[in-house]
Amino acid sequence: MIQRLLIANRGEIACRITQTARRMGMHVIAVYSEADAQARHVQEADEAHLIGPAEAQLSYLNIKKILEVAQATQADAIHPGYGFLSENPDFAQAVNDAGIRFVGPVPKVIEAMGRKDRAKEIIAAAGVPIVPGYLGSDQSEKTLKKEIKKIGLPVLIKARAGGGGKGMRLVEKPEEIDAALAAAKREALASFGDDHVIIEKYIKTPRHIEVQVFGDDHGNVVHMFERDCSMQRRYQKVIEEAPAPDIPDAMRDAMTQAAVAAAQEIGYSGAGTVEFIVDASKGLAADKFWFMEMNTRLQVEHPVTEAITGLDLVEWQLRIANGEPLPLRQDHIEIKGHAIEARVYAEDPQAGFLPASGKIRALKFGSARVDTGLTNDDTVSSHYDPMIAKVIAHGQTRAQALSCLEGALEQTLIEGPKTNLDFLSRLVTLPEFQEAKLDTGLIDRALDTLLDVEEPDNTTWSIAAILLLGPQNLGAAAFGFAHFGAARTTLTLAINQMVQQVSILRKDAKTYIARIGGQDLHLAQIRFDAATLRLKCDGTQMHIPFHRYKDRVAFRLNGRHYDIGYRRRLSEENQQALGADKIVAPMTGTITLLNHAVGDQVAAGDIVAVMEAMKMELNLKTDMAAKISAIHVKPGQSVSEGTVLIELDIDDG
Ligand code: ADP
Repeated sequence: MIQRLLIANRGEIACRITQTARRMGMHVIAVYSEADAQARHVQEADEAHLIGPAEAQLSYLNIKKILEVAQATQADAIHPGYGFLSENPDFAQAVNDAGIRFVGPVPKVIEAMGRKDRAKEIIAAAGVPIVPGYLGSDQSEKTLKKEIKKIGLPVLIKARAGGGGKGMRLVEKPEEIDAALAAAKREALASFGDDHVIIEKYIKTPRHIEVQVFGDDHGNVVHMFERDCSMQRRYQKVIEEAPAPDIPDAMRDAMTQAAVAAAQEIGYSGAGTVEFIVDASKGLAADKFWFMEMNTRLQVEHPVTEAITGLDLVEWQLRIANGEPLPLRQDHIEIKGHAIEARVYAEDPQAGFLPASGKIRALKFGSARVDTGLTNDDTVSSHYDPMIAKVIAHGQTRAQALSCLEGALEQTLIEGPKTNLDFLSRLVTLPEFQEAKLDTGLIDRALDTLLDVEEPDNTTWSIAAILLLGPQNLGAAAFGFAHFGAARTTLTLAINQMVQQVSILRKDAKTYIARIGGQDLHLAQIRFDAATLRLKCDGTQMHIPFHRYKDRVAFRLNGRHYDIGYRRRLSEENQQALGADKIVAPMTGTITLLNHAVGDQVAAGDIVAVMEAMKMELNLKTDMAAKISAIHVKPGQSVSEGTVLIELDIDDG
């Protein structure tokens, strides 16, 4: 049995693996970068070792250093988690060479599946349908263009070494081909050091449905049914669920059999995911799915499979790595109910989902399974993936799971960096999502609704006033004034540029009235605990997670996050506002392209520059028609967040 397990990862997945390894009686060895010295995964391990500076390249991707620690600590197995080195065949090989067990398939399989072109060739040999397209090694522009024509638009250009949606471009019109090819190759080279691309027919109204498989070293393969990961943004999963809503039995059978056949074809061992793209334009059918790629590791979304099967996928991985046969036969694996996972990220949806970072001032979750690598007081580092947590709800039906997820998200409060929580709350209540009319374009089509910012209503202002007064002031103020009949406290509150006066009147010992612009709201049964306010507002019971700091309070109400304080001078609120006459680097990164020269006329929405940050391409656009008056940077130049890159003369009239 594995006794000493080294986890070559960080964050929530390191914590998740630790949990199971600990339950199985293993000694857990963590590794960490300088940025993670206080991280939760370090605290939860039995021992932890520094492997280098914050940059992943020098720490979590540093094979030599990780192996040194593994040997010094006498680890007998290494779990790579997901991301980082999890799909790096050189790492798996080096681990094996050091006489340590790698929790995952053999290096040869990782390598074969790691390249989209080779993987498709191998899987096609098992009789599995693959997406039509071009996989060739001739990468000349002429050939690629000819192939695109042959396949027919729309097509998707993908980095063959790709992952995480990087190096991927959709081409719908002939005039987009040149720019898309160049951008895909540029991004592929920057992210994977390999600019080879493949071309695929773009499946219209696509759904992403994947099958979880497990193989052992004795030739057995089983599946654990499917997950639907169609709720995506920029080809990245946002919400995942299992099973796939409305999937016909015949299609499930065909997909799971194809996945098992694919795994058998390559002699698969360990946890793997076979990803399919599905044409949902005429509903789901058994002949409407095609193999996209196989991931040779545990997936971020594995908890929904755990929820519906009642199995611990990390335990399966460790037992298989231990040489044991699969713990269960296929006919003993069943679907129980429905599960949905939402990924909570530190990012700013209103600013194009720009990754955010910074100190967490408050962290409170609702009642659902939550996988996170953070604690209160932690910092979301800009060096790594900005995922804060995964919230996983399970119910007997999809409707139950959905309502549980909705409640859990409403009860979640994260103070510090901006998050996508409000976006998620809106997403789970979107009628199309509730009715399971899923496809990968749904989020984009509904983006305006999902990003809508509402002004606080009177209920929100009243609750802010109650929260700012707090239990002591509320009681004391009311008590003090009660002698004079009408006890009243008036607060002047502000959020951004909006100001509102709220008067709180005490009606009786348990009931207060909030008076705003002539409207009265009845606030009854007010109860505070450390981080939740419970009350009845005009008869509706509410549970409001909150966090007070300085003279402000942050809280979530009906799936919206608010941060309200006493009014301050407007100039202070405005300090951050930047004029439309400047293009500013939204993140620290590198300028990759400048599309204009000084003196050029640009229209509103034109892309004036492209930069790369966190291995992502960001298009920097103008807000208004203008003339370029100054350019302060050159392609290739590194810039820090907030740097003024380009100045504009805004057209009048
Ligand atoms: P990556 O490895 O970068 O994650 P994938 O090949 O897994 O890329 O594709 C990511 C997502 O892109 C899919 O989940 C799907 O939404 C979309 N996609 C990929 N291939 C196609 C296709 N041929 N047609 C339509 N959408 C696709």
